[in-house]
Amino acid sequence: MAFPRELKESVWAYARQMMVDGIAHRAQGNISLRQASSGLIAVTPSAIPYDRLQVDDIVVVDLSGGVVEGQWRPTSELLLHLAFYRAWADVGAVVHSHAPYATLFGVIGESLPMLLSEAAACLDGPVPVAPYCRPGTQQLADSAVRIADKGPAVILANHGLVTVGPDLGAAYDSTLAVETTARTAWMARTMGARVNALDPAEAAAMRAAYLMSYLPEKQGK
Ligand SMILES: [Zn+2]
Repeated sequence: MAFPRELKESVWAYARQMMVDGIAHRAQGNISLRQASSGLIAVTPSAIPYDRLQVDDIVVVDLSGGVVEGQWRPTSELLLHLAFYRAWADVGAVVHSHAPYATLFGVIGESLPMLLSEAAACLDGPVPVAPYCRPGTQQLADSAVRIADKGPAVILANHGLVTVGPDLGAAYDSTLAVETTARTAWMARTMGARVNALDPAEAAAMRAAYLMSYLPEKQGK
């Protein structure tokens, strides 16, 4: 059976949204989602600028990276995506961007503090920074998974950002939460002001409430 077109459309739409949100230029960054029933993964192709990307350009691969559908090579960061799907069964989507403010924290090598209530729901405490590894390598993929430590976000030193979630909407929300937080932290620092982090217990409570909304028995009631 062919891979559902609406899932490819979702990958396509979020990939283009990265340009709108200013977190990717041309073909930078990459997005994927996993179909729960088959385990197959729809992922953006390599080197096709998002303003020219068509739904049919989206590639479908299996968990070992073999192409099941599509005419293009999958993203050069496929190993990064596969590493998260292999590591955690509950990951349904992966977003990798070069979000500029998040990347700033990857350049200075500082984990990102939890500053905003809106971000606390989408993130699981301060966002860690994985040490630099060459893009596209298994070394980068393994390092990112290890440093993320089952959290929804990890900043890649001198490179960008990866977020994961149960679905693409959640993974993308986490990306925007990191980027908004990083921009706020940067602005506060340019003011020379002290940055007050959220109380960790309050942030954890907001995160727990957000996760509860993903439980099937809580939906549609
Ligand atoms: Zn990248």
